Amino acid sequence: MLRQTRGDVQSPRIVDFETAILNPSADFGGLFAPERLPVLNTIEMRKLQKLSYIDFTKEIFTFLGINLDSAVLDSALSTYRRFDNPNEPVALRKVNDSLYIQELFHGPTRAFKDMALQPFGAILCALAQKRKERYLILVATSGDTGPATLQAFQNDANVFVVCLYPKNGTSDVQRRQMTTVNAPNVRVLGIDGNFDDAQSALKRLLADDGFKQALEARRFRLSAANSVNFGRIIFQIVYHAYTSLGFPERGVDIIVPSGNFGNALGAFYAKLIGFDIGKVVIASNANNVLTDWITRGVYDIKERALKQTQSPAMDILKSSNVERILYMLFGASRTRELLESLDSKKIYALSAKEYMEIQNYFDATFCTDEECRLLIARYAKLGHLVDPHTATALKAYEQFNNISTRAKIVVSTAEWTKFAPTVAQALGKGKLGDKDALAFVAKTLNAPIAPSIESLFDKEEIHNKTLAPSQISGDILDWITTL
Ligand SMILES: *Cc1c(COP(=O)(O)O)cnc(C)c1O
Repeated sequence: MLRQTRGDVQSPRIVDFETAILNPSADFGGLFAPERLPVLNTIEMRKLQKLSYIDFTKEIFTFLGINLDSAVLDSALSTYRRFDNPNEPVALRKVNDSLYIQELFHGPTRAFKDMALQPFGAILCALAQKRKERYLILVATSGDTGPATLQAFQNDANVFVVCLYPKNGTSDVQRRQMTTVNAPNVRVLGIDGNFDDAQSALKRLLADDGFKQALEARRFRLSAANSVNFGRIIFQIVYHAYTSLGFPERGVDIIVPSGNFGNALGAFYAKLIGFDIGKVVIASNANNVLTDWITRGVYDIKERALKQTQSPAMDILKSSNVERILYMLFGASRTRELLESLDSKKIYALSAKEYMEIQNYFDATFCTDEECRLLIARYAKLGHLVDPHTATALKAYEQFNNISTRAKIVVSTAEWTKFAPTVAQALGKGKLGDKDALAFVAKTLNAPIAPSIESLFDKEEIHNKTLAPSQISGDILDWITTL
């Protein structure tokens, strides 16, 4: 059962998992989250040891009391057949005795979003079908969420997706991962402007009663597939927990390249459930608002402007899942107080006691683009090719390796192929487009390119419509009228 993070403390609204998935926004602008989590005892923990990834996931669902129809959960987990190794969708690579790289990018779009969006998509589709309802999902993307959402829902009969991306703001690979998706239930629109413009346009739509009424008149309901949807978070608990079981003697510290904090939230929940996780280390890029939050106890975006970096999936100032951490540790009224302060004053400060509590769970640091490129080059020489997001976590590893004897798990959130121009640049090449950069890196380091990336350049870009933000709502309504 889930509650509202900014809810009414006297009589909180409590919803089940299905409701939270289908209608992910809670009252007062909050999210749905568990208020507390059950803790595994030694016997239960031992039983989990020998399970396959799929069976392990089912046990976690049961343990957390998520009563999903077992056929629905089975079909959700069968989406891992689209991964390189369906039985072990996550790959763990040893670099040395203290450092392991956990690769979460072996799915269709080569970024970690697939780990959760693939099974989540199947659940949402099954629920929509069962209820005989049609859902519309709107996504604004800077490059990774869009492709993963389209892959998760393409060709579904009851869920429709509109994906907005900044016209000149993504890489060629990312754009092609969206514009080449050939399915009747998806629409991909390039927006004149940057990612902020796309995102603001989306927020205006979601707040527009006229738009919502027009959708209802056409018998569509709105849902969301971003990381505010708890249905995604649950799958992100699983891989952190599963990996920790591989280190029964010494436990793990988990280092997560973070933006909206969904991935790291999964690690935090896994620790609360009782898995042997020491610290969750938050790695950021130059948009280091989370570093300040964790190391100083102040969340401050007053003087900050968003910087464009080479790890764009982490270019975020308001990190949405911080809210679920606040709720779990400090409760709903305090969460509401802090986040209302962030909305109105663009800043909040934790009390000394709260700050200490955060420090019990988290550490944090950040990495500039230049440091990232140096790390990419250095680890490439050691035979470990990483993308710029993962590189931020390698910096954190080097900084925090000595805090404990636990194994350090660096979470790798994207394959290098998604950010080939930056990787080529790190390896000493000038500015190249995606196609040339892919070829250069593949040749220089004898690195394979996944077929799903390579084939993008042979496909037709069928979605080639670009629009001004003001034209979006009319376009969407016209489109759904034809469905
Ligand atoms: C989405 C994403 C992140 C950030 O993950 P959060 O859950 O938002 O913190 C990091 N790296 C890559 C490659 C991503 O796609």
